[in-house]
Amino acid sequence: MLSFYPGPSELRPEVAHYMQEAVASGVLTANHRSQPFMELMQQAVKEIRRTLAIPSTYQVYFTSSATECWEIIAQSYASLPSLHLYNGAFGKKWLTVRKSLGHEHATAHPFSEHRMLGHQRVSLPFDRGMLCLTHTETSNGTQVRSRIIGKLKKRLPQALVCVDATSSMGGVALEWKSADIWYASVQKCFGLPSGLAVMVCSPKAIQWAKEQSEDSHYNSLLRIEANAQKWQTTHTPNILGIYLLKRAMQDSAPIKQVSNHVKQRAQLIRKALDKAGFELLIGQERVMADTVIAVKYPEGDLPQLKEEAARAGFTLGNGYGKWKPNTFRIANFPAIPDRGVHQLLSFLRKYNMGLHL
Ligand SMILES: *Cc1c(COP(=O)(O)O)cnc(C)c1O
Repeated sequence: MLSFYPGPSELRPEVAHYMQEAVASGVLTANHRSQPFMELMQQAVKEIRRTLAIPSTYQVYFTSSATECWEIIAQSYASLPSLHLYNGAFGKKWLTVRKSLGHEHATAHPFSEHRMLGHQRVSLPFDRGMLCLTHTETSNGTQVRSRIIGKLKKRLPQALVCVDATSSMGGVALEWKSADIWYASVQKCFGLPSGLAVMVCSPKAIQWAKEQSEDSHYNSLLRIEANAQKWQTTHTPNILGIYLLKRAMQDSAPIKQVSNHVKQRAQLIRKALDKAGFELLIGQERVMADTVIAVKYPEGDLPQLKEEAARAGFTLGNGYGKWKPNTFRIANFPAIPDRGVHQLLSFLRKYNMGLHL
């Protein structure tokens, strides 16, 4: 089976081999304050920095999930208000998490999934606070390009710009300096098993966290930072996950190269779908995500399409949230081989032809 589910997603083919290596290395039974673990963490951070071209001034941390990052951000900047720009389920969930933690000074700024974010019209309802955005909205296959996020950051220096990049980090070249906090869990675009997330923080993010001096949670950003200074984590982390990430980053091409390939392949997929008679959920090229493609399909016919696809060896992604009944999603993550993409497109073309005959 080849999975086109946008998370947990198709694993990199090398993962089984990396896992055996991890067991043999002994690091999985090493204490997380011991030298072998600290060396692993140092190497993992070095490899991810190198492969993803993360600036040396930005810190790299490991957490458990993107969901945890929502909480870390909410609690570590608890006294700051926030403005949430979103057009889909994940961006909205971030706002919900913040509100459910009692932060009533969280404001919604929804925008249409069919149009570019009108960044010139975004104004902050506070003097100092957080601007929260989702880079790639996995639920509907849209993207706010980091160039636009950078424009917001430049125009609104009184904001700490926080970005959920769960479905793009590792597959798309991000302009790191266009935001202060980026995070992603690894079971999407990194092609690794779930249970680990990467958080990347600017000097401003750390400075503001220090001003908040919030360290009452095991996963307060200040505690994470203090531990990272020693190449450690606040708690016994997912050591296997960190090992797999280190190896995956060691063996990956530089992100620019990966990103170009992902973008070209997204265009190819969209063209092929169009030719085969499928309609994309999002019609505007400029807001389409490179890594997740949402496709409309008649509600009554969708279960059969998914079943036939599974019989042919492909797992299609279900629709998400309000688009669940009448869309399916195709992940275009780097771990999926080109050959698999071509086979899926060929299946979809034939299937749709048969259906319309
Ligand atoms: C999957 C996803 C999440 C949640 O990730 P977890 O690892 O389950 O916490 C958050 N944001 C986006 C954009 C996602 O795609």
